Amino acid sequence: AKQGGRGSHAFFVPELDAVARRRVHLEEGLRLAILRDELSIAVQAQWTPSGQLQAGEVLVRWLKGPDGNPVSPGEFIPVAESSGLIKPLTLLVFSKALDLAAELQALELDIPLSVNFSTELFRDESIINGVLELLDESGVAADRVVLEITESLLIDTQPWVQDNMARLAARGLSFSLDDFGTGYSNLAYLKRMHLSELKIDKRFVDNLPGDEDNRTIVRSILSIARQFKLRVVAEGVETEEQMAFLASHGCDLLQGYLLHKPEPAEAWVAKLSRQKN
Ligand code: C2E
Ligand code: CA
Ligand code: CA
Ligand code: CA
Repeated sequence: AKQGGRGSHAFFVPELDAVARRRVHLEEGLRLAILRDELSIAVQAQWTPSGQLQAGEVLVRWLKGPDGNPVSPGEFIPVAESSGLIKPLTLLVFSKALDLAAELQALELDIPLSVNFSTELFRDESIINGVLELLDESGVAADRVVLEITESLLIDTQPWVQDNMARLAARGLSFSLDDFGTGYSNLAYLKRMHLSELKIDKRFVDNLPGDEDNRTIVRSILSIARQFKLRVVAEGVETEEQMAFLASHGCDLLQGYLLHKPEPAEAWVAKLSRQKN
């Protein structure tokens, strides 16, 4: 611990050290994991209210972290975002997602895949070029891929951010607005951008249908989406009651543990292939 600082801070130093050490540890581990191709992807399926498999979200997995244990994306994605590792990480995840999309295409399964794209990526043209190159090389149809973005991207005023988004859209990629309603309330951007979908964050799905505030928020999101002609996916659906409420209010797609827990991509596609035969 740091010595000679003001006495009032000394108490907190060991704890800060532990947090900082964990961060450095994770960053170093993640750098190696990317180099050694030790990250993998899981998929969580999205369903129509009538129970038809319609699409899937790709989620990165780090199964063997620095201590040999899995590390959750909730912990390592922020580290990746603040260290620049999000760029190679996303290209790796995107390339795995394209491999999976190609397998689905070969099985003649019409299941678009969503991939999470952090806002930082759009500030860097080389990443956009990388994404477009991977897409070209893969032979996957652009309409089989959806990029999940957050509201912070849409309000980013740096001109090249919008240009980069437009380049991806021009190639046929579409965008889904993740965690809708948790950021900024200005709706002007909804029609500006190349959005095809809104995702209702889990926090609004929790406590449905009992919680009046969440009922109102979800109904508002569905009404906004209808006016802007956007598809709506609700995430974090864990109960039959939530599903019934969302279905009866016109939510297009449902995603959550009730219907499907994220599953390693290979296992998922193998299962779909068996079901087909
Ligand atoms: P997200 O994009 O909001 O993804 C949904 C998260 O909710 C996933 O957590 C998923 O496993 C979890 N989830 C889905 N259904 C349920 C449910 O019914 N109940 C509960 N309790 N949880 C549910 P996960 O996989 O841990 O990912 C956490 C976050 O990390 C994601 O949140 C996303 O923001 C980020 N993330 C994951 N993969 C990537 C990636 O490849 N790139 C980037 N940039 N971010 C990623
Ligand atoms: Ca997401
Ligand atoms: Ca989400
Ligand atoms: Ca979420």
